[in-house]
Amino acid sequence: MNFDFISPGRLLVQQGASQQLPSFAREMQAQSILLISDPGLAALGMLDDVKASFQQQGIALTCFTDVTADPSDTVVLNAVQAAQACSADMIIGFGGGSPMDVAKLVAILHHPANTQALEDLYGIGMVQGSRLPLILVPTTAGTGSEATPIAIITTGATTKSGVVAPQLLPDMAVLDATLTVGLPAAVTAATGVDAMVHAIEAYTSRHKKNPLSDLLAREALSIMSRHIRTATHQGHDLVAREQMLFGAHLAGQAFTNAPVAAVHALAYPLGGHFGVPHGLSNALVLPEVVRFNMPVTRDLYADIAPLLGSEPELDVALSTLIEELELPSTLREVGVTEKDLPMLASDAMLQQRLLTNNPRDVSESDALAIYQQVY
Ligand SMILES: [Zn+2]
Repeated sequence: MNFDFISPGRLLVQQGASQQLPSFAREMQAQSILLISDPGLAALGMLDDVKASFQQQGIALTCFTDVTADPSDTVVLNAVQAAQACSADMIIGFGGGSPMDVAKLVAILHHPANTQALEDLYGIGMVQGSRLPLILVPTTAGTGSEATPIAIITTGATTKSGVVAPQLLPDMAVLDATLTVGLPAAVTAATGVDAMVHAIEAYTSRHKKNPLSDLLAREALSIMSRHIRTATHQGHDLVAREQMLFGAHLAGQAFTNAPVAAVHALAYPLGGHFGVPHGLSNALVLPEVVRFNMPVTRDLYADIAPLLGSEPELDVALSTLIEELELPSTLREVGVTEKDLPMLASDAMLQQRLLTNNPRDVSESDALAIYQQVY
């Protein structure tokens, strides 16, 4: 056995825990906090209780709520300016993957000793310095970003760059299921399937797969397959919501240490060119990539298929689940036309960072064949 495992410094799972953020800020001796979120959450009033709790405790809180989905480098730089303006000495990321990813980068870039520009950070292990105290509070059960050392930023019209460095792991992840009860069914389903993809791809990753990531991936799949239907169709069910949040977090820890692969590589072009949300793009290509991998992952898939129910074949179990969750299952349903498929396949080849983790080599013609099957 030979592996290296990293995870957030502290994990708190507790309904209503987001109300304790001022206490955690005090514990970390912070005096001016920048909370990074998105306009949707602000409009829903989801920041109101948090703001009130900071006011009651007399701790200065500034909210930056301009994070868009698939955030650009400009969004990150605007958030850094907001941190400068309030002399922030602690960052809270509050929302889905996008606000949490931006918060991680602001915590690096606004550190007093930082000398790097945003573009210096892209790549694996490029972050040189430290970061400000950082707490991440997910409001969707999907990306697991609160458990990962990764931030994905849109750097061109359709291109994304990743920052991967251990400094991006937070001091603390807070899983408060009360924040997720209002998520619409389609978002719950798609983000939940994304989290299940994280577990499946971690379990079959060609690199860094290890006994602890395996254990987390299996447990994450077991938990989420039992609760994803209830969380989707009965969104007020706090038990199902909490289990999904916990499952997605475990999957995040798994793929932090055993990285994701071809499902994500083939999903990214759908987001880049057609604006398909991350979770849904993964759900669309998932069963077909599993079918493609089957010749080399038969045994591994046989380990995890029983965690999803009584169906022995993983690809069939996943197709059935996606159907039960009432998610689209073809590319044409999300606006892709047949003539787009070669462009998607050639774009997927740009994701070598992910393809290299896939258990089976994926050529451009393989990718095209997969898209054609899903079309
Ligand atoms: Zn994902």
